[in-house]
Amino acid sequence: MSTFRQIPSVDRLLGHPYTEGLIATYGREWVTQAIREVLTDVRDNLQEGQALPNETELLDQVYDKLQTQAKPTLQPVINATGVLIHTNLGRAPLSQAAIEAMKVVAAGYSNLEYDLTAGKRGKRDLHAEAYLTRLTGAEAALVVNNNAGGVLLALTALARRKQVAVSRTQLVEIGGGFRIPDVLRASGAHLLEVGTTNRTHLRDFQEAIAAGADLLLLTHHSNFKIIGFATEPSLAELVELAHDAGLPLVFDLGSGALLDTAKYGLAHELTVQEAVTAGADLVCFSGDKLLGGPQAGIIVGKKQLVQKLRRHALYRALRPDKLCLSALSATLLHYLKGEAEQAIPIYQMLNRSAESLQAQAQSWQQKLGVGEILPGYSTVGGGSLPEETLPTWLLALEAKSPQKLLAALRACQPPIIARIENDRVVLDPRTIQPEEEDVLLAGLQSVIRKEDQRK
Ligand SMILES: *Cc1c(COP(=O)(O)O)cnc(C)c1O
Repeated sequence: MSTFRQIPSVDRLLGHPYTEGLIATYGREWVTQAIREVLTDVRDNLQEGQALPNETELLDQVYDKLQTQAKPTLQPVINATGVLIHTNLGRAPLSQAAIEAMKVVAAGYSNLEYDLTAGKRGKRDLHAEAYLTRLTGAEAALVVNNNAGGVLLALTALARRKQVAVSRTQLVEIGGGFRIPDVLRASGAHLLEVGTTNRTHLRDFQEAIAAGADLLLLTHHSNFKIIGFATEPSLAELVELAHDAGLPLVFDLGSGALLDTAKYGLAHELTVQEAVTAGADLVCFSGDKLLGGPQAGIIVGKKQLVQKLRRHALYRALRPDKLCLSALSATLLHYLKGEAEQAIPIYQMLNRSAESLQAQAQSWQQKLGVGEILPGYSTVGGGSLPEETLPTWLLALEAKSPQKLLAALRACQPPIIARIENDRVVLDPRTIQPEEEDVLLAGLQSVIRKEDQRK
């Protein structure tokens, strides 16, 4: 038991010359806490019969602990999965202009809610509204924190204690716990289920209206597809039906494409403009999916309804911050100037030709001296365009344990996220941005070298 008495005291380690530098970096309180944690570990280890580390080793442990604790938990990663709008990896990367716009506004004060002409309080939601109405043709627009918030706000403001008709084909779960029936319940609206799981007809909605529906809610299927014996009324038919009955129609469009996705060999996603033109009274969509901007929920539509949402108390809880609004405005400006495809990373990635992807994968193979080039598929992700794929070229790496290789790639700095296909680790150049390529290759090289040493 003598070893327990040999454990240095907290004060002794705190007074060690080496600790001075740590205190200068992390502050005395944090260092003291880290020393206590290390000494607790040491005591536990001694109990299990392990040796007592010397003082230098203990201080190294303190240093490691502080470094780990001080590292931001949120950090950049390299997305080599080929999933463009990867929700787990932060969805859309921003354009340079959007990043610049955020920087400018972040560093100082701004006219976020200040009318510079009148010299008094202004409106925060005015910043993106003009761009949004110009782009979509809608009468009015409102920006909130995310699309889940936008749908919740629309339902709360328009349908609390009222009946909302939703087709059973659209009672979807989007992921991350967003389920249409739950959002309806949270808003205080009552769900009126319409039709069946695979087939809903216009007459089913007619019956729902006769049964007292107050609002029609349409939801994009998001991440699933109904195939086979299936049907849904068209948007135009439902708009006519709703308006004949004097009811509003709200469309949760999900992704919110402003450009035609068919141009990239994908299925055509109904665009925001098309939904507005078809007569949807409110259209809700995300800012960080196919729009390629920051996390935001965007609601466009009839002025009188948007006004109701803006005046509702819930809007105050869901309003976007200045960084979101500046990045969103800069992103929307790309569309207005007709330069979205060149400036927005998601569209740069969609636009990559098979030849350039193949050449890039080949150059990786040559530089690394390992792997095989295989044809494969990238996907859009983010709950848009399910089952739709974009042909790509992959670098495939053999490994005794592909799972272990994936983990080794994740341990790189920055972490590299890849995927497994047919027992091989594959990397897709499509989601790698030009400025990431060197760090990606350096990470791959170090992991491959270690793999070789193990063999
Ligand atoms: C993604 C999605 C949402 C949620 O949007 P967030 O911006 O992630 O809150 C809601 N509805 C649909 C149909 C979606 O695809």
